[in-house]
Amino acid sequence: MRFNELNLSKDLLRAIEDMGFEKPSEVQEATIPHILKGSDILAQAQTGTGKTASFGIPMVEKIQDKQSKAPQGLVLVPTRELARQVTEELKKLAKYKKFIRVVAIYGGADMGKQLSQLKSGASIVVGTPGRIMDHMKRRSLQLDRLDFLVLDEADEMFDMGFRDDMKTIIEKTNPNRQTLFFSATFDNNIKGFSKFYQDKPQKVII
Ligand code: AMP
Repeated sequence: MRFNELNLSKDLLRAIEDMGFEKPSEVQEATIPHILKGSDILAQAQTGTGKTASFGIPMVEKIQDKQSKAPQGLVLVPTRELARQVTEELKKLAKYKKFIRVVAIYGGADMGKQLSQLKSGASIVVGTPGRIMDHMKRRSLQLDRLDFLVLDEADEMFDMGFRDDMKTIIEKTNPNRQTLFFSATFDNNIKGFSKFYQDKPQKVII
């Protein structure tokens, strides 16, 4: 399969070409068409398989609201390093959709800068659960307009003890959102979250 068979806009196809991707990876081929159609996804995929673009491409494609300052997408990740990497990849994918602003929110970084970035508007927030909770408590981050919620490396987040934070965050999001879970392993935590928070998820195992 080729990227131009996925029904993507020119803006996305150009950005993907600039990134040097020649064809969709296995996990991208298995997930992107379902996400574009609106399905929830429960995917088992390791780092290095192209999982970031699996959710990044359809999310950037489907975010259309140019006016809203409230986040339309939230990606929860276990570490600041992953938050940085995912943010960079999403920015590259959104290169030709200039209205999309991607903001990284993680602990140990300057709170003032994050507050001003959120205030001036963030279409997609990529963050670690602890710092996301801090911003929700300060009311500097509201998630009731969210169209996409992604858990990336969900198993790592459970291992790091973020389960309760993850629950609190998910329960504050727009219930009509699309919910995408990516995890290297499927244990009872992720299975339980899927049952509770997803609607007929498409299961993908790579
Ligand atoms: P990830 O699994 O998302 O961490 O991606 C691993 C690496 O593969 C990253 O450097 C991506 O930019 C790159 N990548 C993702 N999708 C593709 C693709 N379809 N073709 C080539 N490289 C890719």
